Amino acid sequence: MRFDVLTLFPEFVLGLQSYGLIGKAIEAGRIELGSIDIRNFSRDKHRRVDDAIFGGGPGMLMTPEPIYESIQSCRRAESKVLFLSPQGRVLDQALVQELAQEEHLILLCGHYEGIDQRIIDHYVDMEVSIGDYVLTGGEIPAMVLIDSISRFIDGVLGNEESVTEDSHYDGLLKYPVYTRPRVFQGHEVPEVLLSGDHGRIEAWRQEQSLEVTRQKRPDLLKKSSDN
Ligand code: SAM
Repeated sequence: MRFDVLTLFPEFVLGLQSYGLIGKAIEAGRIELGSIDIRNFSRDKHRRVDDAIFGGGPGMLMTPEPIYESIQSCRRAESKVLFLSPQGRVLDQALVQELAQEEHLILLCGHYEGIDQRIIDHYVDMEVSIGDYVLTGGEIPAMVLIDSISRFIDGVLGNEESVTEDSHYDGLLKYPVYTRPRVFQGHEVPEVLLSGDHGRIEAWRQEQSLEVTRQKRPDLLKKSSDN
């Protein structure tokens, strides 16, 4: 799987290379990461990539030509172009797993007031939001996508980690987990987890998973019963 991020801050995105499991996965060639500076495609002698908005209004907008050129510089037949946008489909586990099936994602990051609508209309396959709030740029959302999608790529997580045990995989939150010591500040680990009885432990975990979801995110239970 390859990600190419189109950005005004290529170094920022490349920071992923030196961080945790994603950095290791890039080093091992499980995922490939490219970061393309949109300014390199500016025809302006000052490398400007923004201009005033037709019809007036506050702020500046990213101009279409450098974005178009930067898409063309890395687009292949199998590429999917995603624009990170607060107006997009809100990222959730289903979308993460859907996108993990792709071979090449081009992640376009906006700044200022965003980008010219003609790019969205004609060259973007999907707009993706990371939540109903507005950030100053698309780089952090692009990194959220890369991180969440990469967890579903073979060999990215170590053997000891499993995506199927995590919150949201099956629509529920994960059960509570504990480690040593058995007693911490007078607080004990639930007895069942020390029993060695795998059947009981499994039943307890399933029950807890439901209970935690009911308490913290009852909307998830409603969502799964609606589907
Ligand atoms: N004027 C735009 C609007 O009201 O829809 C918001 C522009 S925002 C200040 C600048 C850029 O940050 C956007 O083009 C987008 O790339 C990114 N961005 C901001 N919030 C985001 C979100 N919730 N999800 C994904 N990208 C976001």
